[in-house]
Amino acid sequence: LGHNSAGYIEKLGPGVTNLKEGEPVAVFGGWGCGHCRFCRQGEEQLCNMMTWVGFGVDGGYAQYLHVPAQRHLIKLIGLEPAEAAPLVDAGLTPYRAIKKTLPYLYPGSVAVIIGVGNLGCFAVQIMKAISPGSRVIAVDVTDYSLQLASELGADYVVDARGDAADEIRQLTGEEGAQAIIDTVGIDNTLKTAATVAARKAIIVLVGVAGGTLPYSFLGLPSECVVTNSVWGSYTELEEVLALAVDGKVQARIRRFPLEDINEVLHLLDKGQILGQAVITP
Ligand SMILES: [Zn+2]
Repeated sequence: LGHNSAGYIEKLGPGVTNLKEGEPVAVFGGWGCGHCRFCRQGEEQLCNMMTWVGFGVDGGYAQYLHVPAQRHLIKLIGLEPAEAAPLVDAGLTPYRAIKKTLPYLYPGSVAVIIGVGNLGCFAVQIMKAISPGSRVIAVDVTDYSLQLASELGADYVVDARGDAADEIRQLTGEEGAQAIIDTVGIDNTLKTAATVAARKAIIVLVGVAGGTLPYSFLGLPSECVVTNSVWGSYTELEEVLALAVDGKVQARIRRFPLEDINEVLHLLDKGQILGQAVITP
């Protein structure tokens, strides 16, 4: 387990030429075979989920992490590993999703972020950073998350304990929103996304809760695009780290020692970890 990893290089294997022992690095996690068409295109995370670190391969919940190739490591300059680790997935996944929405956005357009949890809190910051002309509406069901979204730069927050779609429609007028990122992915959030989408909008699903969205010719606004977005590429992770170095994307980290990991996971399960818990050996 553990797919958001960063640290200091302990020991180099044979043939490694561009890294030094003791250097701080982030671990790009979407490891692929390195040979297929997707890997050769730099979209290694689309190769095979079972070779992702922390999924099919032992991950970063450990004192040491074995990384099989230097192409998975990004040298950290201006960030320490504990600051970079949460960005490896929780920052990168919304970043890739938001990049898909950029062709649909313009000054004055509306982007809706559904769910301000571990991914959504980065989504709000990234959207404001890379599409500063867009108005960001953040949707959640807890006072804490709605307050956090405001602090992170959301222009409007919508409490989904009420009728979120209706409230968003009131904010966007009849036109609707040009981009919707669903970081939750249950039936209800997908329905909200479809209800508030404008014509020629894009809905990007990153939440893996398993909900479904009925699809039919007249069931969605005209020419609305629906896609999922899967983690992110090595170069996209470099871009997220660059945003973090510039202070445009920040994790709110809390450090815990490795021996407390079971307790931390328990707290996470109960929703009692606010911000990003970072396990340090
Ligand atoms: Zn491959």
